[in-house]
Amino acid sequence: MLKVKPKKRHIILAGALVTLCIATAGVVYAIIYYGDQAIARQESTSKAHLAKLDKKIEEIEAKKLAEKKAKEEAERKAREKAKKEAAQKAAAEAALQKQLAGQTVTPAGCAISGAHGNPASIDVVVNKKRCFSPINYVPADIVYYQGYPISNKIYSNLVAMINAAAAAGKSIGLTSAYRSYDNQVATYNHWVSVNGSTAAADQVSARPGYSEHQTGFAVDVSSGGAGLEAFANTAAYTWMTNNAHKYGFVQRYKPGYEAVTGYSAEAWHWRFVGTAAATDMKTKGIHTLEQYWGLPGGGY
Ligand SMILES: [Zn+2]
Repeated sequence: MLKVKPKKRHIILAGALVTLCIATAGVVYAIIYYGDQAIARQESTSKAHLAKLDKKIEEIEAKKLAEKKAKEEAERKAREKAKKEAAQKAAAEAALQKQLAGQTVTPAGCAISGAHGNPASIDVVVNKKRCFSPINYVPADIVYYQGYPISNKIYSNLVAMINAAAAAGKSIGLTSAYRSYDNQVATYNHWVSVNGSTAAADQVSARPGYSEHQTGFAVDVSSGGAGLEAFANTAAYTWMTNNAHKYGFVQRYKPGYEAVTGYSAEAWHWRFVGTAAATDMKTKGIHTLEQYWGLPGGGY
């Protein structure tokens, strides 16, 4: 065994202790240093990841904003378009009303009065030369049959005729009856807008204040769904040409008399004039009210 002096042994021990302390400090430092590095690396990875997420969120939000803006823009454009269309429609309607105001001015002398000029009397004659006075005349005795308004003066005869036809196996239904002045304004305007001019509309529709339907004495009929021109080919039409006079009705616009009545033939349009006049016309073979009572007719 090495013999060391006690003093020297102390020095060696102290040296060893110092060395141990330094080594320990180094190890501790290394642990702390590398630990920090690892944490820093982890932090940096997390930060990058968060940055990516943030970017993604920003992108989604930007996309959402762009979509919202596009939607708002489309809605704004649609609103503008609708507004423009409404304005155009209103302008067209105003122009049409202006045109009608000029066209449908009551011609001098067309207002009915005197003989066959009382719109509340069943012998009244209204045609393109004879308009209502007042122009917006409304019958005071409107009643309803099959849901259609008619003058009470024709009610019982109309019902009796339709019932007699039914008993003979012929079905007759109404498709139109009394039409007010305002209703005819709408009807006539409709045909003006469809056909493009008042001249073209005059071919298919009476001007307001000139329609026999405004008396409440005229009806349009059909049979089993066959109305207008098709009615002429029905058994009900044949029955009416042979029997309607017994109930006071005449076919108002017959073929061959267009120049007299001012209207193309209408198989479906029947007018009540009372049984005396209707039977007398049938017996004498007179086909128009204008000829029967010696009144002007034809076009406007
Ligand atoms: Zn009619």
